[in-house]
Amino acid sequence: MATVLESNVDVLIVGGGPAGLMMATWMAKCSINARIVDKRGTKIFNGQADGLQCRTLEILDSLGIGHRAWREANHMVEICLWNPDENGVIRRSDRIPDTIPGISRFQQVVLHQGRIERFFLDAIAEASDIRVERGVMPSSLKIDESLVEDDAAYPITVTLRHLTEKEATPRQSSTSVNGEVVQDGLFRSNLAKDDTQDLLELSKLRDKANSEEIVHAKYLVGADGAHSWTRSQLGLKLEGDSTDYIWGVLDIVPITDFPDIRMRCAIHSASNGSIMVIPRENKLVRLYIQLTTTEKTGDTSSRADRSKINPQVILESAQKIMAPYKITYRKLDWWTAYQIGQRVGTSFSVHDRVFLAGDAVHTHSPKAGQGMNVSMQDTFNLGWKIASVVKGHAKRSILKTYQSERRGIAQELIAFDHKFSRLFSGRPAKDVMDAEGISMEEFKAAFLKGHMFASGIAVNYGASEIVAKEGSREEHGDGTDVSVANVQSNVISDESLCRGITVGMRIPSHKVLNQADARPWHLQELLPSNGRWRIIVFAGNVTNSEQRGKLEKLAQDFGSQSAFLSLYTPEGAKYDEVFELLVIHNAPRTSVSIFDFPEIFRPFDEIDGWDYNKIFVDDVSYHEGFGNIYDALGISHSGCVVIVRPDQYVSYVGPMENTAAVSRFFGGFLRVQQQ
Ligand code: FAD
Repeated sequence: MATVLESNVDVLIVGGGPAGLMMATWMAKCSINARIVDKRGTKIFNGQADGLQCRTLEILDSLGIGHRAWREANHMVEICLWNPDENGVIRRSDRIPDTIPGISRFQQVVLHQGRIERFFLDAIAEASDIRVERGVMPSSLKIDESLVEDDAAYPITVTLRHLTEKEATPRQSSTSVNGEVVQDGLFRSNLAKDDTQDLLELSKLRDKANSEEIVHAKYLVGADGAHSWTRSQLGLKLEGDSTDYIWGVLDIVPITDFPDIRMRCAIHSASNGSIMVIPRENKLVRLYIQLTTTEKTGDTSSRADRSKINPQVILESAQKIMAPYKITYRKLDWWTAYQIGQRVGTSFSVHDRVFLAGDAVHTHSPKAGQGMNVSMQDTFNLGWKIASVVKGHAKRSILKTYQSERRGIAQELIAFDHKFSRLFSGRPAKDVMDAEGISMEEFKAAFLKGHMFASGIAVNYGASEIVAKEGSREEHGDGTDVSVANVQSNVISDESLCRGITVGMRIPSHKVLNQADARPWHLQELLPSNGRWRIIVFAGNVTNSEQRGKLEKLAQDFGSQSAFLSLYTPEGAKYDEVFELLVIHNAPRTSVSIFDFPEIFRPFDEIDGWDYNKIFVDDVSYHEGFGNIYDALGISHSGCVVIVRPDQYVSYVGPMENTAAVSRFFGGFLRVQQQ
């Protein structure tokens, strides 16, 4: 009998969709020994998710792939609301900006999920040897509970089965349109039966020597979508409703006389339902349409009769809703149908060793364009935390903040989607007396209110050992208090020092100039996602003797053997392996040079010389404007220190003089590396 291959890996990721790929990108950027497996033989090539929020673009930019998405995507600038007039004929009733002006340096765009996955795959390949292992899926999962608190242990044992190419290629129905075969997305939709168990049974029938292997992992991330195998192995549940709303999706190049077809539109017809129009890349337009083709099953739920849904049915619904305008197509790129369910996982992790992310822990309707974004943001939150624990930089306690931070976001998402779906799916009110109908004023107000949430910018993480602010203590699923270390170290931010920065939210951006070469940079561009903590010192006018004195004292304190830099940076590591110190001052740029700053802000390397990329100035650029970051972010001219997490969320704000608080803050969750 052939011996079964057995190996160790620090992080095993199950699922190569947006959530799994984001996780793998962190692992690649942080040089973690990781593997990622996916039961499918290929990535997605068209269709499925397409909306990218402005926060997601900021995140992709921090990973070095934002520019690709920004360039290729269709930019959505305006939303048009269409409603029935007094004669029941649809009319444009309003126009609103698609992204709230000024909230980000990016605006919402659309590009299909397959391209986003491509960008991730390229970034992972560039930074590491990690590759998505396709046609590979787990068949068993065991956790040795006696080892879960041992940092060096591999408490998770997973059996992986390697599928044949045929098994890994999903059976997919196709439609012929004008002689061209168009594949649909039904096999991924929740209207299709999950094939995980069938695949496992099939692969067991083969007696291939290398078809099974055993992997021992320190951490496992289940990013395996709405039917999550990992979730069911853990015995965890999704809680919430499954509604009767069935949605059809058509990606077409439309031929239409509808004037706003290149705008994002929400169209409510008087009695034929509603449609969301999403203008896409390559002249494509996506139509999201609510269908009513449901049938009651034996139990209490109702399921769609899939056989009755096809592109023609979806198109005919669109034609009714958009009448008197005409719409048809010659080119169909993709189509699918799915049933809306709004549900959240009861728990996002087990023993802080196995984590669930993305659709595996939250499902909801896609028309608010949130699923892919929130899924990627789950693992954007988790990836750097696991990486810093695996590297031995941080204590395992920070892993508790994954659930305390992300479950709340998932719950908000579900509440938002619930409200939005009801308003979107309902029939417009005929008049003020029509209590059953949806008021279009209410719809617009909800749309505007939801905008901030939908942008992803509103995320505000609560108090914890990595977010130093006052607030209610958040409990982890097992009852332990995630903010306890922070409370013990007694570090609380003073947000009055920079009123435009909120502790717990992502740091806003504004351009500053590099002191050494006058090149303008967006503040967020100085914070690439590579696992480092940033300590940004807003030093004020350093030609002023008081500010200068504060900066010198701060540099002396930070440089001492008992301060965080020395304590928590591993022996022999590069000076900015764990912490990057940045200074942004507002003295006149030409009145100082980098040599007027303490050496800690311009570290020297025998081979590379001075590091010129740590000192920045608040000044107007020659070609790109800006200047005045101190006013834009409400920064006190007496200066302040801002600690920014590796994922760009703000952990702490305090005065320059309180250097001890910075060391105490890091002492709450980092491991001492050098005595
Ligand atoms: P998935 O994308 O589902 O990825 C899971 C991966 O895990 C898959 O590659 C799968 O093959 C693999 N896998 C599953 N089980 C196993 C197993 N047992 N072993 C190994 N691998 C496994 N979101 C938006 O943000 N904007 C939109 O406009 C939008 N539109 C959508 C339109 C449609 C029609 C649909 C269906 C979804 C849409 N979504 C949208 C939602 C979005 O596609 C999902 O939220 C997103 O893909 C979730 O990412 P994920 O990585 O968590 O899961």
